[in-house]
Formats: sequence, C-alpha cells, structure tokens
Amino acid sequence: MLSCPNCKSKDLGKIGVNQYYCWSCFIELSVNKGKILTHQVEEDGTLSSLDDLFSDDERSIIM
Ligand SMILES: [Zn+2]
Repeated sequence: MLSCPNCKSKDLGKIGVNQYYCWSCFIELSVNKGKILTHQVEEDGTLSSLDDLFSDDERSIIM
C-alpha cells in the first residue's frame, strides 16, 4: 500500500500513470522503479523536488 513519505497518509488520489496526489499535505508523488519521488507544486505552478527531505528507506515502496 502506497503511503505519503511526508505525512504517512494513505489518502492519495491517482492523477496519472504512476502519479499520485496527497490530499493531506498537498504534494505530488510519482512512483518509479520502486521509489517514490516527491514534488511540491509551487504557487506559480512549477514543481520542485522534495526528495532531499527523505531518506531512501522512506521513499521505498514496501510491497
Ligand atoms: Zn502527504
């Protein structure tokens, strides 16, 4: 089960192929090769990566 690495919420909406949106902390998640990539949507609509905030373990998907 996929959960948000930032807030641990499982309240994720699917927005595309391997792309999810966290309704709890409003970040975008995408899944690539078993890793969760995190992005914050800025006010001007650009995406900035939040991956530096999380360890590899936190961004791994546990099946
Ligand atoms: Zn979240």
